[in-house]
Amino acid sequence: MQITEIYKSLQGESTYAGLPCVFVRLTGCNLRCVWCDTEYSFYGGRKMTPEQVFEEVERLGPAGGLVEITGGEPMLQERELVPLMQRLLESGYKVLLETSGERPLDSVPGAVIKIVDVKCPGSGEGDSFRLENLQALTSKDEVKFVISDRADYEFARDFTWKHALAGRVNAVLFSPAFSKDASGARDASNCLLDPQQLAEWMLQDNVPARLSLQIHKLIWDPALKGV
Ligand code: SF4
Repeated sequence: MQITEIYKSLQGESTYAGLPCVFVRLTGCNLRCVWCDTEYSFYGGRKMTPEQVFEEVERLGPAGGLVEITGGEPMLQERELVPLMQRLLESGYKVLLETSGERPLDSVPGAVIKIVDVKCPGSGEGDSFRLENLQALTSKDEVKFVISDRADYEFARDFTWKHALAGRVNAVLFSPAFSKDASGARDASNCLLDPQQLAEWMLQDNVPARLSLQIHKLIWDPALKGV
């Protein structure tokens, strides 16, 4: 497998936010979201066997804890990733999979908690979500919209209503996009859309969604990697 980094931090943006978590970041992505904050994962990385990845996860966090598989787009390495996720589950880890929603998800083991993006128009990858993936979602999964302006918000709101997302998954997350060049200030000034504005729109429309902030960027300098 091609791996960019494996590290321990706090989970930052889901209903698991705030919990200790080992992150496994796979190298490579087939999308190019304009606000992407992990462009460093597009290329490079190091080759590791699934066994080596498993051992590193075990070294960083005991079984029973959270492991998040992320990227890049992890499902581009589906052939080795699926057995690795299976092994982690069998060893007692709770496994989260962060994915762009563009790759098919039917091969993901049922016990993996999928956190699936639906890309909004402002990402530059607005038509990338694979609608068939709605069938792969279960009541423990989460769907996330990263929102940078009013048009993105209306897209996310209408998609949530049209596909009755709140009844399909554990959480629908509306997350203000964050400036990819942010550094220094650990506050909402680095958001491309003011969270207060987004909160007010959500309240006005009674959208069955949860406002989600990337808490790791409010705890550590947003320019820091590996946190
Ligand atoms: S899908 Fe994720 S890793 Fe890929 S470009 Fe978009 S934000 Fe970056």
